[in-house]
Amino acid sequence: MGIIAKPDLDTSWKDLSNCLGVDPDLFFPERGASTREAKEVCRGCEVRVDCLEYALQNGEKFGIWGGMSERERRRIRRQRALDRQTAARVAEAG
Ligand code: SF4
Repeated sequence: MGIIAKPDLDTSWKDLSNCLGVDPDLFFPERGASTREAKEVCRGCEVRVDCLEYALQNGEKFGIWGGMSERERRRIRRQRALDRQTAARVAEAG
């Protein structure tokens, strides 16, 4: 992963990451290439949740973060947006 953080996002978790010293290219595979190896590294990572949240909040569009691909993260972002809309409608309805 290549971290260029927004100033207000905590990146201290990266010091505990399982991917320290692992070839970053593994986490940014060519389109259509396997993500299996990267996800295997993430599977045992103790900061996986922090990494995933960072990527979601920072709008990371490329690579494997928190064991998830771009497409998987997009799905989470979409679901969260729907949840927010639903919560707003419920709040409006009183
Ligand atoms: S979840 Fe994966 S990409 Fe994120 S810090 Fe851990 S090993 Fe690295």
